[in-house]
Amino acid sequence: MRKPVIVGNWKMNMTVSEAEKLLDEIKDLDLDTEVEAGVCTPAIDLLVAKEKLAGTNVGFGGQNMYFEESGAFTGEISPTMLTDIGAKYVILGHSERREYFKECDCLINKKVKAALDHDLVPILCCGETLEEREANEHEAKVKGQIEKDLKDVSAEDIEKVIIAYEPIWAIGTGKTASSEDADAMCGYIRSLIAEKYGKDAAEKIRIQYGGSVKPNNVVELMGKENIDGALVGGASLKAEDFKALVNFNK
Ligand code: PEP
Repeated sequence: MRKPVIVGNWKMNMTVSEAEKLLDEIKDLDLDTEVEAGVCTPAIDLLVAKEKLAGTNVGFGGQNMYFEESGAFTGEISPTMLTDIGAKYVILGHSERREYFKECDCLINKKVKAALDHDLVPILCCGETLEEREANEHEAKVKGQIEKDLKDVSAEDIEKVIIAYEPIWAIGTGKTASSEDADAMCGYIRSLIAEKYGKDAAEKIRIQYGGSVKPNNVVELMGKENIDGALVGGASLKAEDFKALVNFNK
């Protein structure tokens, strides 16, 4: 039985003072403990997350990191910096990082392996553009990303990874993939994991859907067989919406 996992991606939102306020609200929410919940904040808010979420069931994490331990990599944060502060997750390969910061699969692969080496849970994002979907290339695109981003990840480690299927055309646009299409793609990703790592690993790995998930569509999406959670941008910035997402079962 896979534990559902709902994670907020704050993106480049929330100054420290705004984060303090939102996290004060989040820490007091009555959240379903049968659901794993987390927030991935801007790096500057991580210390606030550590303080405010201490003693709650809400984990926190980064939205990116470099794969090296330390050194002359101006502007980056390292896996150790994340673990030292108590971070649990790190989002890797988000489509915004791929598009605006030109992150390639070979870099993302190094980051995934570094996260696993440091006991961070990588939330590996994949997904196709609208053009690729319309050209019926969505499976090929995602297959390529999964193969390259998970290259040399061991069978032992694969179950720790969370994969987020995020069709790019659905992110921040208000357009959600139909629950059937989202489920089909999450099922397809599971079949790729089964091919490479076996049925057991495929049954255990958690696959999220991301792309305009809101309180009004989360129940339907989470009702699908292959959707184990959601990576949520916009709707994670309001405590009441975050509560409704995590409590989709209530
Ligand atoms: C995201 O940031 O990964 C995302 C899915 O954003 P939104 O929920 O706003 O579409």
